Amino acid sequence: MPVPLSPVPETMAALSVVETGRPPALAMVNRPVPTPAPGEALLRVDACGFCHHDLLVMDGTLRRGVAPGVTLGHEIAATVAAVADDVSDRQPGDRVVSLLTAACGRCARCRAGREHRCLTGAGIGHGRDGGFAPYVALPATALVPLPDGIPAAEAALLACPLGVALAGVAAVDVAAGETVAVTGAGGGLGAHAVQIAAMAGAQVIAVTTSPEKAPALESLGASLVIEAGDGLDFAEVVMALTDDAGADVVVDTVGPPLWPATLRCLGQYGRLALLGDLTGQPASLRLAEVIFRDLRVIGVSGVSRPTLERAVGLAAAGWLRPVVSQTRPLTAEGVGAAWRLVAERRALGRVVVAPE
Ligand SMILES: [Zn+2]
Ligand SMILES: [Zn+2]
Repeated sequence: MPVPLSPVPETMAALSVVETGRPPALAMVNRPVPTPAPGEALLRVDACGFCHHDLLVMDGTLRRGVAPGVTLGHEIAATVAAVADDVSDRQPGDRVVSLLTAACGRCARCRAGREHRCLTGAGIGHGRDGGFAPYVALPATALVPLPDGIPAAEAALLACPLGVALAGVAAVDVAAGETVAVTGAGGGLGAHAVQIAAMAGAQVIAVTTSPEKAPALESLGASLVIEAGDGLDFAEVVMALTDDAGADVVVDTVGPPLWPATLRCLGQYGRLALLGDLTGQPASLRLAEVIFRDLRVIGVSGVSRPTLERAVGLAAAGWLRPVVSQTRPLTAEGVGAAWRLVAERRALGRVVVAPE
């Protein structure tokens, strides 16, 4: 059903990071509403997830490739407000979710179904403007249509974190009956990885620093929830739970803070999917541990169009549920509150920001 759209204004209030820090200084600044370039659609943002990536840019940890003055936010659910003359496959009123990269749709990577590794496309909300604004212009090739029935706040999470978690679990070939440990299980990637691994028929061990999230993680499919942190070695617990066999798979969304327990809890032929690095610090590795346990270690980031389309289909069919913790308004205070919820690890899944 076409969505009635209000007329597009000439200017809008977009989120600006005035100064990086913990907390960052945020403000809403007046900017022109972009005009869609050839191949682009102008989107009215309905909801945009607040990713850990945004937190890392806001606190100054992540700088590489970040365009000066860029509007952050890459988890965008939107309604098409206008299209460039040469765009025929999208029209005003269409509900869409965006890829995380403004993929060109033409290069070798895009044609191979690896749009997230497009040779020329900039990261949305990183190398080019993203969704913490009422409007954003994106290439039509970076958009996937949304069926009715998925609310905007949930739809915003279908590429990141849900699609990224889907790609991560697929990369390590989780089979029914296997034991899968998910670190950072209460976070955006983790809460979805728990669901996806459980859907694959695995026994899921959710590892979290927030034990109060245990009931929610069990409702998402975790067989067991174990607390990590404060000197507790979760690898010991995984070994005890598996009669010293170790986990078949670890989906790691945390990185250095839990290393080396993350590696140590893997059994023979174990597979490790690395999806997150919260600190950017080095992690030490004895190569013999990988060699003699026949481990496979694979990095996963981003989401391809086929994976995003699969995520949309699974959510529409009710197989997967995007986990929205809270929705906050697109104001400096609202995004500041989202920042605090994520920084203090109080949110289960994602905090979403929505223009008022
Ligand atoms: Zn994200
Ligand atoms: Zn491309």
